[in-house]
Amino acid sequence: MGNCLFCRIVAREIPSQVVFEDDSSIAFKDINPQAPTHLLIAPKKHIASLSAVQDEDEPLLGHLQRVARDLAAKGGLEKGFRVVANNGRGAGQSVDHLHYHLLGGRRLIWPPG
Ligand code: AMP
Ligand code: ZN
Repeated sequence: MGNCLFCRIVAREIPSQVVFEDDSSIAFKDINPQAPTHLLIAPKKHIASLSAVQDEDEPLLGHLQRVARDLAAKGGLEKGFRVVANNGRGAGQSVDHLHYHLLGGRRLIWPPG
């Protein structure tokens, strides 16, 4: 996955503001934040999108959600936060490496549009 942007962030070939990482996941600040807190939580393993997830990835998906919970708690987002995965161009996915947006720190309206 030599030219995948987020694989290159995982490999530290491209600088980013990493706020958390462990053996299987990484979280870093979105370069174009849409809220006071806007983090991206991604598996270190290259998975193109939620649609490309294999059944064997189920524990990894749970882990990513646990990371989201912990980062929201650590970031003081007790008033509310949102976890979003855009899947496919029609839903606004622009980087083909699975990631969850963690948004918070302002009032979030619904539906997101
Ligand atoms: P999506 O459009 O859902 O695929 O989300 C991709 C996100 O990656 C967007 O919110 C971008 O602002 C963000 N992004 C793109 N390049 C970088 C980068 N080098 N470092 C951090 N975030 C990035
Ligand atoms: Zn990748």
